[in-house]
Amino acid sequence: MEGEVCGICGGDGRVANAFGGSTATCPGCHGTGRKTDVSQVFRDVTKTKPSHHKAPASGPAAAKWPTSLEGTQLANAIRDGSLGADVKTRLIVEIIDHEATHGRCTQTFVKKMRKQAGIAAPTPK
Ligand SMILES: [Zn+2]
Repeated sequence: MEGEVCGICGGDGRVANAFGGSTATCPGCHGTGRKTDVSQVFRDVTKTKPSHHKAPASGPAAAKWPTSLEGTQLANAIRDGSLGADVKTRLIVEIIDHEATHGRCTQTFVKKMRKQAGIAAPTPK
């Protein structure tokens, strides 16, 4: 990375001032003509803008996942299915809830969920 020519001024270390026709020190390389410290450039840029771009504290909602074998299989099938993302999330949450109250996924529940999600039960060959 070090030693690359600055992409803003093209290595001159100066940029044309649009208003006066004169030149000003390049904000990208501070006159060195080299692309050496990208983070410095970004810091300068963010100074002039309200910090609306805040990284989320904990990333996208950490997906909870069923723990039982039946629940996991069911959740995987739902995830790989063609349902909308919100429907998938809702059904998977339902599985987790069911596990929490029943300790595992009952066959009846799995059957019901498969029907609801439009997932065909795996047929033994
Ligand atoms: Zn430059």
